[in-house]
Amino acid sequence: MSFGSPYMTIPKFSYLKPNSISEAIELLEKYGDDAKVKAGGIGIIAFMKERLTSASYLVDLKGIPELGMVQESDGYLRIGATVTLRRLEEMRNLKLMALHEAVSSIADPIIRQSATLVGDTCEAIPWVDAPPALISLGAYAHVAGKKGTRDIPVSQLIKGTGELSIDSGEIITGISIPESGGNSTYVKFSSGSEYSIASASVNVNPKSKELTIVMGAVAESPRIFNQSTVEWKWGESVEKNIRGVWKTFDDRLEPMSDMLSSSEFRMKISKMVVARALKDLFGGA
Ligand SMILES: Cc1cc2nc3c(=O)[nH]c(=O)nc-3n(C[C@H](O)[C@H](O)[C@H](O)COP(=O)(O)OP(=O)(O)OC[C@H]3O[C@@H](n4cnc5c(N)ncnc54)[C@H](O)[C@@H]3O)c2cc1C
Repeated sequence: MSFGSPYMTIPKFSYLKPNSISEAIELLEKYGDDAKVKAGGIGIIAFMKERLTSASYLVDLKGIPELGMVQESDGYLRIGATVTLRRLEEMRNLKLMALHEAVSSIADPIIRQSATLVGDTCEAIPWVDAPPALISLGAYAHVAGKKGTRDIPVSQLIKGTGELSIDSGEIITGISIPESGGNSTYVKFSSGSEYSIASASVNVNPKSKELTIVMGAVAESPRIFNQSTVEWKWGESVEKNIRGVWKTFDDRLEPMSDMLSSSEFRMKISKMVVARALKDLFGGA
């Protein structure tokens, strides 16, 4: 998708390929705001071509072996920063349905071959598919910088369009997702571009009966609802509960208007995708 800029060429930049996380952090510290991280390069190169972002130095993470790993340990699935969407899509034992459905719905197979889960998340534009799914699954991001490492929930990572709650010298080294989180699904609607006009990721924990609904593409960052904010009542019919969710959306969702959709149309689509997701999980035609 083009954002309408007349520019087509890539501006000049120096390409840096560190072999370790510490080397990557040193380069980011050294070049400050002139340097940006590159994972798959799909988003950053497109944005540089359109002059929506600039960088004199691109620090490519793909040469750091440990960032390419997918590991299961202590009930968590840890996905490194250079793991591609395609690799996750092809994992036959991936139990996290919302994640599988979200990554499989992104762009096309050629883009998914290069683009990474972490890159899609860090792009932080409102319409991307990975963040709503990751948030509904209770994922958190591992951050590394000169001062050390820390973890932040993905729900707190995206501050606004293109804005992350990490410092310029920091990188996300991976994302961890609890595997026992529950049953989940992801539904998106797109038209005329692969990007979502609205998306819904729903997760329910069968033991605690905790319900999480995360709406994507309706605001600068994903909107989170839980069973108390949507007044979900266990024991009521799915249809009646969906009407309750729609009522909450009427009162509180206030979807944005942008180049992909008006607010009014987005509200209709939001109700449609959330109903589809809830029926997928709880039954209903
Ligand atoms: C034609 C087209 C269609 C698309 N359709 C969809 C779609 O349907 N759904 C969707 O979700 N997306 C879509 N996208 C967006 C695409 O999926 C993203 O651009 C891509 O996933 C970004 O991942 P990447 O690995 O290429 O990241 P990069 O382009 O390398 O990086 C993206 C941004 O994240 C930052 N970054 C990357 N890794 C890190 C890190 N480890 N730590 C800190 N910052 C980091 C970079 O500095 C950059 O700002 C589409 C893109 C195109 C071109």
